[in-house]
Amino acid sequence: MKTQQLGTSALKASRLAYGCWRLVQADGPDALNAEQLGVAREAVCAAYEAGFTLFDLADIYSRGAAEAALGRTLKDVPGMRDRILITTKCGIRHADHPEPGAPYRYDFSETHILRSCEGSLKRLGVGTIDLYLLHRPDLLCDPEEVARAFSKLQESGKVREFGVSNFRPSQVAMLQKHCPMPLVANQIELSLWRLDPLLDGTVDHCVQERITPQAWSPLAGGTLVSKAEVHIEKTDDARLNRIQEVLIELAHARGVTPMAMALAWLLRHPAGIMPIIGSVKPERIREAATAGAIEMTREEWYRLLEGAHGCRLP
Ligand code: NAP
Repeated sequence: MKTQQLGTSALKASRLAYGCWRLVQADGPDALNAEQLGVAREAVCAAYEAGFTLFDLADIYSRGAAEAALGRTLKDVPGMRDRILITTKCGIRHADHPEPGAPYRYDFSETHILRSCEGSLKRLGVGTIDLYLLHRPDLLCDPEEVARAFSKLQESGKVREFGVSNFRPSQVAMLQKHCPMPLVANQIELSLWRLDPLLDGTVDHCVQERITPQAWSPLAGGTLVSKAEVHIEKTDDARLNRIQEVLIELAHARGVTPMAMALAWLLRHPAGIMPIIGSVKPERIREAATAGAIEMTREEWYRLLEGAHGCRLP
């Protein structure tokens, strides 16, 4: 698979990343059983063998069980840790934790960032996280406090590079103003289904600041390529139906799959968008990797945009 630089950093990753959100369904690392670990290992190894070198996680994914499952695979597969980049995130806190009655919330306090990072390192069984992201904007964020936490993590060698997720350009700019290190990624929901970041300035800001936009749910959680019936009387379903039709038509003309076309549409954008795919099925993971070989034309790209937009562009 082709590779790309992450933002202005020296880190190089595969053009497509592998997302571990759906890797295991468990309520924390202690709840993982052998079967779940086996499925996770198969998915992670399929991604690794298909050329994915960036693995995306968060402390909250299955309450730490996703990090623990990846950590277990890293222990079992010789050399894998040194050949991949690990991304994980912090900043979201579960309800009723640590006290009953606490709401589901965001927390960018220095104490929480440092504590969360320690937890992730331990569950992953590694000494360093390659890319550490703030998961969702904390409205009570004190940027100087975040900068302090990031500096401590970088100076101690626990984290190499930093970024954000679901941030607006103004939020990225505000944090960057206080951080001594560059923010190298903004992970956002972006797909043929979710066009907003291309239109509201989020991707433009990434290009301007040389930040890598990472696209989460690039297949809209599978709905862009699912064969499940869509009901065309509903507006949303009619739009989905149109996107699927164009994907199928263009994929057929090229002899590739609709999934590969949906991912190639993101890869074609000059911002260097990195789709994070989330399937746990080895055959779908391998299929996703084929997107990297497609050189989408401008005409194909706009045909798909027109389908996603719903009508001819003005
Ligand atoms: P996705 O690739 O859009 O969706 C994956 C889902 O689509 C899986 O459930 C998969 O099912 C299904 N799927 C794929 N092909 C299909 C087909 N042909 N028919 C039916 N279903 C199909 O991505 P995602 O999992 O939503 O998100 C990807 C990653 O983004 C996550 O793992 C996580 O790392 C990251 N993420 C980040 C945020 C954030 O706030 N930063 C939020 C959400 C996600 P199978 O497993 O059965 O193939």
